[in-house]
Amino acid sequence: MELNFACKYPFTEEGKQAIKENNIQINDEITERGVKRIVDALNRVQRTANPVHISDQLIEIGSYGAARMMLAHLRNRYLSNKFAIAEAKKASSLMARETKENIKRLQNELGVVPGEFEGKVVVPLEVYVKFSPRSVDYRLINRNVKEGHVEVSRREVLRLMEEAVKMKVEDIGLFPNAPEIVKKYSVKLMKLVPKTAPSKMSFKEGENPPCIEKLLETAKKHENLGHQGRWTLAVYLINKGVPYEKILQIFSNFPDYDERVASYQIKHAINRGYTVPSCGMLLSYGLCIAECKIGNPLRWKTWKRKK
Ligand code: SF4
Repeated sequence: MELNFACKYPFTEEGKQAIKENNIQINDEITERGVKRIVDALNRVQRTANPVHISDQLIEIGSYGAARMMLAHLRNRYLSNKFAIAEAKKASSLMARETKENIKRLQNELGVVPGEFEGKVVVPLEVYVKFSPRSVDYRLINRNVKEGHVEVSRREVLRLMEEAVKMKVEDIGLFPNAPEIVKKYSVKLMKLVPKTAPSKMSFKEGENPPCIEKLLETAKKHENLGHQGRWTLAVYLINKGVPYEKILQIFSNFPDYDERVASYQIKHAINRGYTVPSCGMLLSYGLCIAECKIGNPLRWKTWKRKK
């Protein structure tokens, strides 16, 4: 059992085994550390703890388990998603400087095993589809696909692995009979969660077309949204005259929200005066969910008045 590996990658089988073999029991110290792990994730603080002493390594591994117990108890999608993104990013930065041998172990564990085809690095199509991020660069139409394999760069293999870690960590089951200590620290955790205000997205019912309502709903539920969805939402709101601050507040609900990036994107769209993509374009992005026959979501009110 290699505790160092389990400590760096507690989501692996090694991590589970470390808990079992060392009989790590949940206690105040471990749970407190678990709370910190989640709060760090919410605040985007990346701490790649690398404890040397065995007792500290065990606490570190245990804190991951404690964090998951609290998340399973709370069943708060926003928290689970934020936690998964942070753990995946942490793992990714560690994997970037990992030994070849450990990378192979992780690839096998995560199911992202690259191969070679005609001298290029490739991954099986189904693996690519499952783990590729929702970004235009990763769309299959922009990729070299041959005989069931997709060509990828070494950096992209790492990105697929990061996504696989995120999905693994996010997969938190039910925890119906949480012990008292988990309940106690879950209450403490919720007091530390920064209060964003999804309820302040006050749009009147029917004010926006179905596609936009869906995008707003995604933000409200603190779920992730791909680049095109965010872009469409931003330019729609800008064109509707929604103030910059309110758009930023809506975007702050996305689990991977980065104020600097979001602020830049919104300001850039405002300055350039972009307009909303047509319904046909949104259909090709997979964002159209109704047949309003208005040509562009911005015509929603005009269309309603004519009816
Ligand atoms: S038809 Fe246009 S406005 Fe209606 S849901 Fe589709 S994209 Fe949105």
